[in-house]
Amino acid sequence: MRNFLLKILPYGLRIEVGKIKRYIKYAYHLNINKPIKLKQCPICTKEIAFFLPVGKKRKAIHCPFCSSFPRHRAMWLYLQHNNLLKSGIRILHVSPEPSVFNVMSKMQNYSAIDKFASGYAYPKSVLQMDVEQLKFEDESFDLIICSHVLEHVDDDIAAIREMGRVIKKEGKILIMIPIEKDLATTYEDKSIISPKERLKHFGQSDHVRLYGMDFAKRIKQTELNCEMISTRELTNESDFIKYGIEDDFIFVLTRNKNVTIVP
Ligand SMILES: [Zn+2]
Repeated sequence: MRNFLLKILPYGLRIEVGKIKRYIKYAYHLNINKPIKLKQCPICTKEIAFFLPVGKKRKAIHCPFCSSFPRHRAMWLYLQHNNLLKSGIRILHVSPEPSVFNVMSKMQNYSAIDKFASGYAYPKSVLQMDVEQLKFEDESFDLIICSHVLEHVDDDIAAIREMGRVIKKEGKILIMIPIEKDLATTYEDKSIISPKERLKHFGQSDHVRLYGMDFAKRIKQTELNCEMISTRELTNESDFIKYGIEDDFIFVLTRNKNVTIVP
């Protein structure tokens, strides 16, 4: 029922319904007798008593105001600390998260794309496009953000090469993926195609592989450089807790300046 409602609602209404639900949940969990350790969402900048609990484990991770999750906030900190959102630069955002999209879509020269899951509504400004076949000229963008997309993509290396084709020589491609930290080598089996089997093997019904700690090594198949950054490096211990960040990685891909990318 919930999924059905999510699918039939227009994008704007879906966002509003989500917002009201989060506010109610926030009010419900607010306990005035509890000492408050203030948190802050770096994206919407709101100070809050806690992040909302999510899922079976009730992990406190969801911003009640902008719906950001720890990985969105970590990416945002990386963008801010490295001053990557300079005015005038061309940005490509692959499958944008609403929390970051709401802020970045106000910028000039911002393009967002998504493959469009059937039945869902998307903001009008998001273009329908496959990351494996980008309809942009070579060296079009200064910055590409691609978070939690590649685990859904059949040929992730082709998608990375394609992003490498459209990034400028001095540009940066920022990638986040769900990583199984205990897994040394990425687990992939192209014969596993049913949603039920994918859930069992890869942890989600629409994931096509389970990434291990070898992502940076996989990038060696392309002509791109890869730097693996721990989210612990983004800030000090107290802000790590205050901003609700989790242990994770951001991969920063850059071009070898003298190499021409062949898609
Ligand atoms: Zn927020």
